[in-house]
Amino acid sequence: MNDCLLCEQKIASVPSWKALLALEKQTAICQDCSKKFQRADIKEEDKLLDQVTSLYTYNEAMREYLHQFKFLQDVALASVFANELRTLLKGDPTIVPIPMHPEKRIERTFAPVDELLKSARLPFTHLLEKTGMEAMGEKSKEQRLAVKPLFRLKPGTSVQPSTYILLDDIYTTGTTLRHAATVLKEAGATRVEAVTLIRAER
Ligand SMILES: [Zn+2]
Repeated sequence: MNDCLLCEQKIASVPSWKALLALEKQTAICQDCSKKFQRADIKEEDKLLDQVTSLYTYNEAMREYLHQFKFLQDVALASVFANELRTLLKGDPTIVPIPMHPEKRIERTFAPVDELLKSARLPFTHLLEKTGMEAMGEKSKEQRLAVKPLFRLKPGTSVQPSTYILLDDIYTTGTTLRHAATVLKEAGATRVEAVTLIRAER
């Protein structure tokens, strides 16, 4: 029996031979808390992104989750969606996390997207690096489209003619993911998909 990472109540586990043999994965949050997150199940296609899959919508529970995970730096919360991400992403394609600007990375002390993957025990490769520190949220759509490339290929890395999966925490306008996909495709990727934990309403 473990405590829910969000509300700290005990998670009642049904005694079973699977649990005894530790074949059943421990859940990080209780059922009451997991019900508060609203499924998105959004899959769509884009010119640059061959497929985008988002798991949840941005609701009150998710807003609180992100606040505690990213801003209050509660790294343990990376495990809340670990089982789900693992189920969705385990397999062959190379997972490429959307990188943070190094200065922001130091400020935050950890990279939330990397932590989601580590917690899900999924291997990943950093192929991209940030070119600048521009915050997308403060710009108009025209400014966002005119902006210089947000990412470049990380020196010393190479892209194969195969499928890559970009991972980001939240999809808002899609600009970030499209910039990242452009870099990978120009470097030779045949297919670039994206998975985000959250899809925010536009
Ligand atoms: Zn709970």
